[in-house]
Amino acid sequence: MAGRAEHMPRLREEYALAAIRQWFIERPEQLDATSPHLQEFARRVLASSREPEPKELTLVALRSRFHNLRSRVLEANPDDPWWQQQRRLDQSDVEGLVGARILLQGASVPCRACGTNRWYPVDDLRTQMRCNGCLSTFPLPVAPDWSFRLNELVQSGLKWHGLLPTVHLLYVLLQRNSDGYPTRSFVTIPSQNLFEGDSDSPYTELDILALQDGEFLIGEVKSRPEAFRPEGFAKLLEVAKALLPGRLVIAAEGEAWPPEVEGQIDALKQSLADRDVIVTKMLLRWRR
Ligand SMILES: [Zn+2]
Repeated sequence: MAGRAEHMPRLREEYALAAIRQWFIERPEQLDATSPHLQEFARRVLASSREPEPKELTLVALRSRFHNLRSRVLEANPDDPWWQQQRRLDQSDVEGLVGARILLQGASVPCRACGTNRWYPVDDLRTQMRCNGCLSTFPLPVAPDWSFRLNELVQSGLKWHGLLPTVHLLYVLLQRNSDGYPTRSFVTIPSQNLFEGDSDSPYTELDILALQDGEFLIGEVKSRPEAFRPEGFAKLLEVAKALLPGRLVIAAEGEAWPPEVEGQIDALKQSLADRDVIVTKMLLRWRR
């Protein structure tokens, strides 16, 4: 079995499936080739897996979004420790995100000749601007409104590649080893697609491949515990048999494992016991 870094979006199918499931929950009536709802159905499935348009938000708008998100989370879970302590989005938080190039700073500037309003990153702003549309030059407005746009690579990682739970699990592994002690050494490589023999289509993907304090560790992580499926566990079993890691970590953002997923993890544990592969399950929660 060989690995290659992931390039293909792997969550599009999951988003489309979720939209289809949601459709049938909302409208359990039959959907067939002559149904008048077919066009709306197609539109929803397409929209669920479309690349989002980049959006710019001013500092005020970012703070308002943060406030709304905080209210929503605390309404659903009043004891959430991270959101209880993080009361507002400080300027230093935004500066940190801009410094790490997760947010890009820039401004929307209208062209005086054709009127096209376009967003430019701060490094592309100059006293004489050149319109990308009509190619005429015009002076930069004296006081443009700064706004912030999510780095498109980060956006695509978040939307399509499950970046956040993967980073979260890496962070947790970086803090503590399997014995509960602070991790002394940690080396990891990016998520990999795994291929059987010379096959061009991936057999499966692996989120985590790491060496933690000398132990070879592989892991699968999802944004919700419910997202684990039996066919995924069957593939993980084959991967673990081929790679023989010291530890296989199954992790998800959330508060509880559904009983059927827990049963599948136990079965995986038993199937790998005689190969000295320890299977660990882990629920991830953000803490400050
Ligand atoms: Zn123009």
